[in-house]
Amino acid sequence: MIKLVEDFFSNIECSNAIDEINQASSLWYKCDETDMYILGNSFLRNQNNYLKNYDNFKTVNLFKEKLSTMFTKVEFCTNLGKPGFQIIKKNDTNKPCVWHYDSILVCFPYQNEFSDYNNNFNEYFDEYYIFTLMLSDSQASFDYFPETTSNFGNTAIEETETPICKHHVDLIGDDCSNPNCQLTNFKTVNYTRGSLLVQNERMLHRVGSRDIDGTDSNRIALQGYGVIKDGVMYLCW
Ligand SMILES: [Zn+2]
Repeated sequence: MIKLVEDFFSNIECSNAIDEINQASSLWYKCDETDMYILGNSFLRNQNNYLKNYDNFKTVNLFKEKLSTMFTKVEFCTNLGKPGFQIIKKNDTNKPCVWHYDSILVCFPYQNEFSDYNNNFNEYFDEYYIFTLMLSDSQASFDYFPETTSNFGNTAIEETETPICKHHVDLIGDDCSNPNCQLTNFKTVNYTRGSLLVQNERMLHRVGSRDIDGTDSNRIALQGYGVIKDGVMYLCW
């Protein structure tokens, strides 16, 4: 399921968020694989220093407060990174629009947070959510293939074994080298400033390729994951 919650953040809240992110621009770091910038402590982008959880962004605290109106109980993980920000400069490279699954969701060192974690993602957690909150004021989109929808694997190894088309994973652009590729028509969700995109299934997706338009402005979104255990949503990134 993909759900779009419009006006999750007001215009003023988005503006304040952008100010906070720009004021911390010295802490942005560039991901060499995707050419996007990260602010915060993402396990996917920063595995070496991951446990140094130094962030305390007002915007992230507000995000948690607002999620508490949609879910019964919401907490930050204390031993995993908090949600953070993804900044894409609208340059000419399409690397930020790489096709991927959010396989990182099953790879977190959950045992640091949950002492009885059994290394079986689906069995341990009751539900999971992937959040993208658009903060910048520009057209934003999300491309995905509905036919790739499934549950995540239980383990990291299992997770990487079940793509529909192996050549489409990590593909930049739309020219798949698999002659028998069945993935031809992706769908697009368009969203605007303040909208929250919520996914609760695994699917092949990318930052909408139309978002890379060569202008100087930045596409800025808050990103995070929520895993539910015993009625509590724990946020991490
Ligand atoms: Zn393919």
